[in-house]
Amino acid sequence: MSALLSAATAERYATTLHGVVDTLAERFATTTQPFSGASREQLEQLVDAVDLDTAGEGTQAALDEIGDLYLRHAVWFHDPAYTAHLNCPVALPAVAAEAVLAAVNTSVDTYDQSTVGTLMERRLVEWTARRIGYAQGDGVFTSGGTQSNLQALFLARESALRALGAAEGEARTAATARLRVLATASSHFSVGKSALLLGLAHDAVVEVPADASGRMDPASLSVVLHDVAAAGQHVMAVVATAGTTDRGCIDPLDAIADACDPTGAWLHVDAAYGCGLLVSPTRRHLLAGVERSRSVTVDFHKSFFQPVSSSALVVREPADLAPVAWHADYLNPLANAEPNQVDKSLQTTRRFDALKLWVTLRALGPDGVGRMVDAVCDLAAQVHAALADDPDLHVVAPTQLSTVLFRYEPAGLDPARADAIVPAVRRLLFDSGRAIVTKTVIDGRPCLKLTLLNPDSRLEDVLRVLELVRTTAQVLADPDRLLDGAGVLDLEASR
Ligand SMILES: *Cc1c(COP(=O)(O)O)cnc(C)c1O
Repeated sequence: MSALLSAATAERYATTLHGVVDTLAERFATTTQPFSGASREQLEQLVDAVDLDTAGEGTQAALDEIGDLYLRHAVWFHDPAYTAHLNCPVALPAVAAEAVLAAVNTSVDTYDQSTVGTLMERRLVEWTARRIGYAQGDGVFTSGGTQSNLQALFLARESALRALGAAEGEARTAATARLRVLATASSHFSVGKSALLLGLAHDAVVEVPADASGRMDPASLSVVLHDVAAAGQHVMAVVATAGTTDRGCIDPLDAIADACDPTGAWLHVDAAYGCGLLVSPTRRHLLAGVERSRSVTVDFHKSFFQPVSSSALVVREPADLAPVAWHADYLNPLANAEPNQVDKSLQTTRRFDALKLWVTLRALGPDGVGRMVDAVCDLAAQVHAALADDPDLHVVAPTQLSTVLFRYEPAGLDPARADAIVPAVRRLLFDSGRAIVTKTVIDGRPCLKLTLLNPDSRLEDVLRVLELVRTTAQVLADPDRLLDGAGVLDLEASR
């Protein structure tokens, strides 16, 4: 019998998928910590033990095998003790839609491969543009914020070269070398990576000074805009971040737009993290000014509770998308009246990720999603308040979204020792599988970081993670206690 999904196998498809869903439901119902705690050596052995060249063992056996291999050792973002990176638990309607789009396997490159899917994606792009506040707007779904930022900067480069009269011919090379991208040190690394991929100069990304929270300083931006022009260079784009990856802070968009407007600089807003504010019933004002940008990155898989991947690039002027359109006789010939999304995308074959957001919005409504965004911001505020007079754990930076940056530094502990404890705590907790926190560096000092994106988590859940941090750090700060066997966690693993 065929292994492919078709009329002939429809019944087997249903049985197989029901089985998968039952297994997963059981896993969700019984999982009690974010990670099994298996060591990398153990996991390498498990993976290496699978012989990919043996004869096929059948669908059920293969699925049973990944139950033991993958599901047992996956990292579970829905667990309240998962507090590390910008990963959200996923909305049920979106997970259901993911199953639908995987089975139908629509590719939203040309209309003749996607029909209504293309129209639905276009409606969602339009909806996002309205939420941003663009009068018109256009855009496309992408694989993530990295790709959205790359495409935004690609469009900005082409716009700048046109403005310089150097879009064509040999003039491009010299003009490209003069292009500059302005961003703060807190901007996402995809900005620098994009500059490299786009063939800009090695020093094309110019750092704009920021305030104590890492937010772009508009007065300094004006100075940098002036200095770049005075040096004979050309500002290709100013990248503002609406929700910095570490601090969850939002650059002052209105004041930045005020500085950009007189110069005509392309303002790109990277709202990969902060895009959830577009539907927040109480915090939309934090994005004030975003409608004055030329392009915006939104990551629905960061703060709209969507499964990876789901992101979009939205531009204010539909004509700005033109440079991304290339034509092939077999696919999307120039003289083709059909709406082909491939004309707007860096990708060709592309998942119909928009379906997940569509079903989510229809199921929960934008306000329903926005209340979940508010819940994680409220939770972060509660955690900040709870730590306000903690003797050991000190918050090192405020947030406007949902991160908590802190250090274990009780009175009398040498700061260098406190520095050294940061990675060790993270590592010990990770190896125990009981809680996952992450670490970063703020103002030159290492600190621990929580990214709270679970609207169902309660303050008690987060406080439990913080207690694990505290006891682990206490053990690390006081090796004697460890020798007494007071440590619940294995120090060997902290190397
Ligand atoms: C996560 C993030 C990105 C990258 O998005 P991916 O979806 O991971 O590619 C870009 N910018 C910011 C501010 C981010 O937080």
